[in-house]
Amino acid sequence: MKYLLPALLFLILLACQNENAVPTPAPTAAKAPVLSEIEEHFQRNNRETRPSRSVGTVDNGSLEHGRIVPFSGPNFHYFDTASYMRGRCFVHENVLKTILETYTLLEKQLPGKLFGLMECSKKKGGKIHPHITHQNGMSVDFMTPLQRDGKQCLDYDYAGAPHYFMDFDDAGRYKKDAGVSIDFETMAQHILLLEKTARANGLKISKVIFRMELKDELFASEYGKRLKTTGIYFAQKLTPLINRLHDDHFHVDFEPL
Ligand SMILES: [Zn+2]
Repeated sequence: MKYLLPALLFLILLACQNENAVPTPAPTAAKAPVLSEIEEHFQRNNRETRPSRSVGTVDNGSLEHGRIVPFSGPNFHYFDTASYMRGRCFVHENVLKTILETYTLLEKQLPGKLFGLMECSKKKGGKIHPHITHQNGMSVDFMTPLQRDGKQCLDYDYAGAPHYFMDFDDAGRYKKDAGVSIDFETMAQHILLLEKTARANGLKISKVIFRMELKDELFASEYGKRLKTTGIYFAQKLTPLINRLHDDHFHVDFEPL
């Protein structure tokens, strides 16, 4: 009889251990979606609620309480998984609103078109090799929209990091696939909407970097003519390397109004 209580306690303990070893799934667990690594990365970094602060300048600054850009949405996608997982897609909260609201407007104006987003800033900003700017959450690289036979071309959208090294001729044709060219009309429309939504979010475009030789083509399009009248500043002087790099994408710096 004197062993009964210890024996009962032992059995209870054993039962508890078994329960711990094989936990009963929560009722909702079976229905919860299996998150991919990218989604987990996004959700882990998507908890910031404090106001964002861009410190210093785009080429000498940092970012506080930045926001991660979603990897993809109904009509946009981030260009490179490794870049995303290495935390190179953070922006000031107002820049995020600007980017996403612009995509929503583009979805209505250009249904069926997919847009590519490229590197932004690191979570806390600062130097982000090899970019000179992109330091305080106010710089964004947008993939230049492409077309083939007058239709959207997505053949190079998933090229990843090498997308930055695509080269175009002075008329905007891809040098390795001359049937593919820059869709200047869509690009101009995108920039006009970025400026509009930026202003609704307390920002404006301070600078666009796009290859010198391609600006004529951009401004010759219908939306391009309107773009020219807005006076949005396009970089006038670029080193040969920086100039050559900005054709597969255009770079946009924002600043507070
Ligand atoms: Zn850039």
